[in-house]
Amino acid sequence: MQILKESSMMAFNKTVEKGPKWVIDTLKNKGLTGRGGAGFPTGTKWEMVFNEKETEKYVVCNADEGEPGTFKDRMIIEKNPKTLIEGIMIACHVITAKKAFIYLRGEYECLKENLQKTIDEVNTSDIEIQIFQGAGAYVCGDETAILRSIEGYRGHPSLKPPFPTVQGLFEKPTIINNVETLTNVPLALMMDDWDPKLKLFSLSGKVKHPGVYELKEGTPLSKLIKLGDGEPKAIHFGCFGGCLAYEQFKDIPLTPEEVLKADCFLGSCAVIVTDKKTSIIDVATNIAKFYEFESCGKCTPCREGTMRVLAILENIAMGQANSADIDTLLELAIVIRDTSFCGLGQTATNHVINAIKYFREEFEERLCKSE
Ligand code: SF4
Repeated sequence: MQILKESSMMAFNKTVEKGPKWVIDTLKNKGLTGRGGAGFPTGTKWEMVFNEKETEKYVVCNADEGEPGTFKDRMIIEKNPKTLIEGIMIACHVITAKKAFIYLRGEYECLKENLQKTIDEVNTSDIEIQIFQGAGAYVCGDETAILRSIEGYRGHPSLKPPFPTVQGLFEKPTIINNVETLTNVPLALMMDDWDPKLKLFSLSGKVKHPGVYELKEGTPLSKLIKLGDGEPKAIHFGCFGGCLAYEQFKDIPLTPEEVLKADCFLGSCAVIVTDKKTSIIDVATNIAKFYEFESCGKCTPCREGTMRVLAILENIAMGQANSADIDTLLELAIVIRDTSFCGLGQTATNHVINAIKYFREEFEERLCKSE
């Protein structure tokens, strides 16, 4: 795997020798984009922070990885932490940040000791790299919520703009990148044959060989499923990315643009397989429970709406709903998507909207028989 090539600190040394502009231009030319889901060009983000006049700046590595079905960052932290640390050091050097935080998912406590050891071993510079452990809130995958959490407040999202590149941690310009992005930085700088299209896919669910697969962006969905040896009915792209009917879309190239044509989001490349024996309503109810629990409660559509979505789905699952309830569920899901404050609420019902779109007959089969 390209991502597992281990750091030799050559990229950091070359950064010190050649300077920030070389790094920014190389990342832009090589086409590194964010791997957390948004896909923003990394070189451009770094350039924005570089251009800010403030003397105090920060780097935050998003190792929160709370999206269900996503576990690629965990693999990188386990297997190639040195290259990740080198990527963080390069980011700090480029923007002259004296301090970086690794925001580690609460559930990844087991990775902390080895990560700290690697920091102590690799970081011989005067940059301070601190591991900050989250408390397990899904909403802290949002970059503004991460910043509030590190500052000691509740991990609530805040309005953008201002963007973190201008006013981030402690209101100072901040680079926030995820683990896979930062690990790719030294590789992109040093490898002539580094390929920006190689990405990590987390495959799980009803497959014989779940795991992390490195594939070229644009690989057909069916090829990934074959590697895992699954027999799918539906594919969920994590929880937030919605679901699609496998037979209809098995040849879809795995790119954000193509997946969007099926009304789904590729996001952090989590692919969860549901087989023909599994009820899509049970899956939807399970995901709805997750969102109802994880809603931070700040805004009404998400706080109240996720509860109502769950209640309707539970009614359908128990065979106590009528056909009007399916329409109400769909309408409610769309309102939550369109009116919630942050990405969590805006994506919390994608799976419901798509489940009704692609598997409506399953919902109808479960309706109250006396209707
Ligand atoms: S959308 Fe949900 S998670 Fe986001 S601010 Fe509103 S209540 Fe909180």
